[in-house]
Amino acid sequence: MLREMVRNFVSDRVEPQALESDRNERFNLGLFKEMGALGLLGLTAPSEYGGAEMDCTAVAIVNEELSYSDPGLCLSFLAHDQLFVNNLVHSGSESQKDRILSKVCSGEWVGCLGMSEPDYGTDVLGMQTFAEKTVDGSWLINGRKMWITNGIVDDAGTPADVVWLYARTGTDARGRAEITTFLVEKGMEGYSAGQKIEDKLGMRASTTAELVFEDCVVPAENMVGSPGESMIHLMRNLEHERVGLAAMSVGIARRCLADMNSYASDREAFGKQIREFGQIQRHIGESWAEYRAMRAYVYDTARQIDLAEAGHRLDSDGVKLFATTAAKNIADRAIQVMGGYGYVGEYVVERLWRDAKLLEIGGGTLESHQKNITKDLSRDPSAIDE
Ligand SMILES: Cc1cc2nc3c(=O)[nH]c(=O)nc-3n(C[C@H](O)[C@H](O)[C@H](O)COP(=O)(O)OP(=O)(O)OC[C@H]3O[C@@H](n4cnc5c(N)ncnc54)[C@H](O)[C@@H]3O)c2cc1C
Repeated sequence: MLREMVRNFVSDRVEPQALESDRNERFNLGLFKEMGALGLLGLTAPSEYGGAEMDCTAVAIVNEELSYSDPGLCLSFLAHDQLFVNNLVHSGSESQKDRILSKVCSGEWVGCLGMSEPDYGTDVLGMQTFAEKTVDGSWLINGRKMWITNGIVDDAGTPADVVWLYARTGTDARGRAEITTFLVEKGMEGYSAGQKIEDKLGMRASTTAELVFEDCVVPAENMVGSPGESMIHLMRNLEHERVGLAAMSVGIARRCLADMNSYASDREAFGKQIREFGQIQRHIGESWAEYRAMRAYVYDTARQIDLAEAGHRLDSDGVKLFATTAAKNIADRAIQVMGGYGYVGEYVVERLWRDAKLLEIGGGTLESHQKNITKDLSRDPSAIDE
């Protein structure tokens, strides 16, 4: 039922604007807010706040369906729903939820997550955004966050209404950064948007921006949990995010396969449908097998994810590693099957190919997944024989 509802929304409302939003590099805020009215902006939030109380499988379904048409819009949705809302649901205090959750579930506020910095991406613990406690108990934050999806929400450069911000508050006994989370709201002194990242390869229907925190004053009640405990929920939410990004890959792959398959029947060369040629059959056959494999791995992993508990890194990394590259390769084959037509915007697959590339970088690079998987299998080789 959820899939059918989202699929209808996608064909009626998302598909007609997808090409234009990509061309204009514009986040469709109005359409995003419509998703709030449909109850999609707080998929895993409790119903008392306007959420849908669903699980990771439901999130995968929504991401897949949106990405069938407009992965850029889906990325904005993911940053809001999976990076902001879900984090607040599982780690925020009751008073933080009471004050903020209903606003983000309805779409009145757009949320984002600030982890990456200009000089620190994969090396998260190197982050240089500092938060210092002041005598009155509030926090003073200084630093810059880079590549933030939904960091700005419009052409005027209006910053996100609320940021799930990771900052360093000290160093632990092992010399590692102590990471703490703050809820920074639009209008707080010292919080502003920096540059909009223009001319991205793909995901152009989502905005990406730098966020600036300059003597930013954040009240004590906007700190999440206790100082230094954020590594736990940062890791937990990354697992959810990675499955979400892998599910986006399924949507991209399905659309590319559908389009190359129908084109292969419509197009004739040398007096035959091009699907009669063995080399075209190889593109379609391999894409089908990879699509089916990624789909099974994504939904199998999503079913296992417990949103309240970390513990599935091996598969959340594994599924993102496999599905994102498979989607990019399937999009590439779709362009090849469609020849010159596949290379232009009207035929969609070139956009999906550009969008797919981001999934190999955002939320963890392919190399970070390879590193994590190898580390986890060294700790627990029994996972291989399970
Ligand atoms: C469109 C877009 C949207 C984004 N949205 C957000 C967002 O909303 N919030 C947010 O916080 N971030 C966001 N990001 C940032 C994204 O998560 C980072 O780009 C990503 O984590 C990689 O970091 P980096 O770009 O600094 O690359 P780096 O970490 O500098 O990596 C550069 C290269 O070195 C490799 N490398 C680094 N360390 C190792 C290692 N130990 N072993 C092997 N190879 C290594 C990487 O795999 C990569 O190939 C977004 C990025 C983009 C492009």
